[in-house]
Amino acid sequence: MEEYAELHAHLSTSINPSIYWQIAHAQGFKLPKREYQDFINYITLSPQKKMQLNDYFNTIYHPLLNKLSSGTYAVEKATYEILSGAYRSNSITLLEIRNNPMKHNHEGQEDLDHIIMAMLRGMERALLEYEKLSAGLIFCMAREFSFGKNAIIIEKAIKYRRRGIVGIDFAGPPDKNFHFKDYKTLIQKAKNAGLKVTCHSGEEKGANDMWEAIEFINPSRIGHGILAAYDKKLMKELVKRNIVLEICPLSNIVTKAVKNIEELKFILRTFVENKVKFCINSDWPETIESAHLWEQFEFLKKNNILSDEELKKCNQIAFKSSFVPGKGLSAYL
Ligand SMILES: [Zn+2]
Repeated sequence: MEEYAELHAHLSTSINPSIYWQIAHAQGFKLPKREYQDFINYITLSPQKKMQLNDYFNTIYHPLLNKLSSGTYAVEKATYEILSGAYRSNSITLLEIRNNPMKHNHEGQEDLDHIIMAMLRGMERALLEYEKLSAGLIFCMAREFSFGKNAIIIEKAIKYRRRGIVGIDFAGPPDKNFHFKDYKTLIQKAKNAGLKVTCHSGEEKGANDMWEAIEFINPSRIGHGILAAYDKKLMKELVKRNIVLEICPLSNIVTKAVKNIEELKFILRTFVENKVKFCINSDWPETIESAHLWEQFEFLKKNNILSDEELKKCNQIAFKSSFVPGKGLSAYL
């Protein structure tokens, strides 16, 4: 059976609804829907139920999913269940999960080190149980956070690097106070400490700071980056620097970042023609209908967007450009 590598999946959108249901009820959380199926429908997007990225962030992602997956109990269980579920059900043998630890500590009510250690415990447990599984965690900074808050996230990533934090990411919508330039020194420090760097950029029109990202933080990968397909010079630069794009096809469709399948096809064919390296990811594997990694591969094949051979290459690129420094638990021992 084919084995997959997934490099772009967020913690709170990788938790299966049944796990959310358990986490919520174990702690007595009040949910917006009393009936399980209604809850699934409420948190899940699909090509029939699209939602602009920011609307989803403001109504579901931050107030509900991030909150439910906050606290030591929830993050440990979530991390464990995501990793073991991905391996058992979706043949994923290499998984990088990303999250912003400061969005999982109930706005500072819980100590950040406890939250981080809980995630690492969840990951260690999964790695111990499934010896063919390899994994690592990426910490996301937020564009809307102050520099000081983001600096703490980088410091924590450096502190826990040997235990399984493998990289850092920038996420969130554009913010007038956010500039990659400000992070140049800090990112260099993180790289010197052995951390790898990726950033969300070039996902939505009007939110394209890929050039700045390249100039000031020179990431090894970029999350999405689909707008590069409309900028020949930028594609050349990506190739020159060997930057890999983490493409998340169905996520782009359900959040309307791409208009339709035709636009997605145009983007990916343009990348193939221009030799821009990319891999396929799910971004939100449990909150988009039929969006597990293998289903994304099926989707691209079924719609004649990429050939079998090209898809195989995407998977190889994912394995090769992973931030995880070794196999299984031994990566961190
Ligand atoms: Zn993402």
